[in-house]
Amino acid sequence: MRHRTLAILVLPILGLLHALSTCLAAAPGTGAPLPLTRGEVHHVASMAEFKAALETANRGKTAATLLLADGTYLLDGATLEIQCPGLVIRSASGNRDAVRWYFKDEHILAKARRVIGPDARIDGMDMAETRPLPDAIIPIANSRLILAADRAGFLVDCGGMNIVAELRKLRAAGRLTSIEHVFVTHYHDDHTDTLPALVAEFGAKVHACGSLVDLIERPGDYRLPCLTQNPTAVTAKHRDGDRWRWKEYQFTIFDYPGQTLHHNALLVERDGAWSACFVGDSFTPSGIDDYCLQNRNFLHEGQGYFRCLDQLEQLPAGCFLINQHVEPAFRFSPAQIAQMRETLRRRIPLLSELLPFEDPNYGLDESWAVLHPYWLTRRPGQSAPLALRITNHSLRELTFQATARAPQGFHVTGAGPVRIAPRSAGALTMTVEIPSNCLAGLHLVTVDISREGAELRDWTEAVLDVIR
Ligand SMILES: [Zn+2]
Repeated sequence: MRHRTLAILVLPILGLLHALSTCLAAAPGTGAPLPLTRGEVHHVASMAEFKAALETANRGKTAATLLLADGTYLLDGATLEIQCPGLVIRSASGNRDAVRWYFKDEHILAKARRVIGPDARIDGMDMAETRPLPDAIIPIANSRLILAADRAGFLVDCGGMNIVAELRKLRAAGRLTSIEHVFVTHYHDDHTDTLPALVAEFGAKVHACGSLVDLIERPGDYRLPCLTQNPTAVTAKHRDGDRWRWKEYQFTIFDYPGQTLHHNALLVERDGAWSACFVGDSFTPSGIDDYCLQNRNFLHEGQGYFRCLDQLEQLPAGCFLINQHVEPAFRFSPAQIAQMRETLRRRIPLLSELLPFEDPNYGLDESWAVLHPYWLTRRPGQSAPLALRITNHSLRELTFQATARAPQGFHVTGAGPVRIAPRSAGALTMTVEIPSNCLAGLHLVTVDISREGAELRDWTEAVLDVIR
């Protein structure tokens, strides 16, 4: 199946956009076109035009700018050769979600051959079965609108700016009367940035469960990739497994630690018709989507993707999955679910060999020890509570000790040792006192962590923003 390559790289590419967004201060999705332009500007609307413009730039070796029209660009070779220094390639419209790149299998194979050798083989999983979305589910960028028969709306995620504008258009056209609810799959900015605008305009109730709730309400307390700068109150806080009815639908919410640890899924069952589970960015038709180490993907049986796979097996018969970055709905066979689980299991000994920790999860989880909140704003003379949150990934109970390091004149008290059960989380609390003569600005508190067999210097940090 040659076409199965189509979706394989779509999310890694989005991941790349996420990574770029930190330095360009522009999240994926709709926004003003980025201003950077170098040399001659070429507008490109197809793969053939792109290749021709790239070849010209490569030959000329002088900086140029390629502006891509919204659309999908299918690369037919194994690599994309860029030999032109200073080449700028970007979306013409500024709608970065609307420009997508896909590589064929040869691309991944070429990379594998460089690492493993000329005989490298990749046994990918066959693509999941797909089907078009039901009529009652309307795609709007990477949101999905679930419509009731009375034209009331239930939204899934709210990232890009154009979503609210599109909803307004639907309302003006008489297809939508209201947005009563919004469910959030995960905290990443391309799923949350526009929540406050949506709530302000439509008064939608915001639904979430588990650790995601605090991430939506207080993103600044965390140091994680793709955080939104727009906190929103979660007005419908749920527990894992909560069920409720809305119009002709039955909803079930799940804590769903897939693409990130702080992720939910929502099972939607329409009376007497279809069922679909919104799995956010956790799965695509090509399989699991755990490309970013900072997203905290635990390799523990019963947690992380293992838990998501267990959950897939509990869904009603015939239930399809929806990832809003992917057009069709899809569903895995029992054999595909088993293959994903087996692949995860095989990673454990491989990573154990590669990583210097007694459990490979310490190497997979940058946030196994973090100061919380990550960012605090205080005045001179005030104090600030800090917790060192620790996830004990080991299979045995461990004692953790911490020594805080703060700038001269600061005092840190507390921070006694903490004993944490295997595969669970604990915290060690402390208080930072800011001297009354402290200068305004950013001040860093770091901690040294020791646990049996390891002394970890300046392992994690918190930022104190002192204002006058
Ligand atoms: Zn996303």
